[in-house]
Amino acid sequence: TKIAIAGSGAMGSRFGYMLQSAGNDVVLLDNWAEHVQAINTNGLTVVEAGHEPVQVRIPAALPTDIKEVQDVIILFTKSMQLVDMLQAIKPLIGAKTKVVCLLNGLGHPETIEQYLPKENIFVGITLWTAGLTGPGAITLTGSGNVELQNVDPDGKEAAQALVALLSAAGLNAQYSSDVLFSIWRKACVNGTLNSLCALLDCNIAQLGQTPQAQQLLRSIVAEFSAVAATEAVELDIPTTIAHISKMFAPEQAGGHYPSMHQDLVQHHRLTEVDYLNGYVARKGAEKHIATPVNQLITELIHAKEALLIK
Ligand code: NAD
Repeated sequence: TKIAIAGSGAMGSRFGYMLQSAGNDVVLLDNWAEHVQAINTNGLTVVEAGHEPVQVRIPAALPTDIKEVQDVIILFTKSMQLVDMLQAIKPLIGAKTKVVCLLNGLGHPETIEQYLPKENIFVGITLWTAGLTGPGAITLTGSGNVELQNVDPDGKEAAQALVALLSAAGLNAQYSSDVLFSIWRKACVNGTLNSLCALLDCNIAQLGQTPQAQQLLRSIVAEFSAVAATEAVELDIPTTIAHISKMFAPEQAGGHYPSMHQDLVQHHRLTEVDYLNGYVARKGAEKHIATPVNQLITELIHAKEALLIK
């Protein structure tokens, strides 16, 4: 299968590497020229726990340098880079091209629908992780899965074919009959743990040990739940808080600094907050639902971005 990875940072490179290893014809597309050049010169360096580092030959290119229509495109930019990427890859999207979006965050299906028909759009979440250590180099740890569903009600068969394609590459994909719920629940995890750890400059366990943790979760999740309900997604507040709180345990993700902490505090990069807390604040305002807590969190993160990013 001819597959383009549109946004080949940490996650895109992981998926591209695994899909190519399974025999697919993969191209890694990315706007970071130094990264593309490093991959084309030395191969993609893959450092995986328990394995010798390998340098894998995978073709890489700037998104606008490739014009060939693809069978499958997997979107893996950061949320704020998605529109630019979709613009750049327009020539790669044919009438039968299936586009898969596994980005974190809310509102992506509506964005993608501006570029191709619903019947070719598939959305989901993934629990795989990956890190980018420099141009052309990724580190892989742990295992994960993918949950995927068609956006168009008639697209189930095509979604199942994509699930099979991903699983054949060891990506452990499952068809989901309610992927919007999974997307919202993951957004709640990221909209609490990521934003709060970035603001408080702490890891997940330390956040959990603060006397304020449960009240903070409750205030954020209550607003997520109210806005989710307007999109026909039922997020029970106590169940969602319990789901998030499980991650405070050291044997879960306790010692981990969430990606927003890594991006903002450690690497001084922009965050996806506008597609998490910011989405809830924006949709809340549109639908006359009060979302002051998420509004404030979004502004605090943007203020911290302004302070830290030169
Ligand atoms: P990433 O930051 O590794 O890459 C995103 C883009 O940023 C790529 O185009 C990359 O080339 C560019 N980029 C990264 N570092 C750069 C630098 N120093 N200079 C210039 N450009 C740079 O993003 P990711 O972690 O692969 O995340 C993609 C999506 O997947 C996001 O929505 C994220 O929330 C989600 N996600 C990530 C993980 C993870 O473990 N990384 C897990 C699940 C979901």
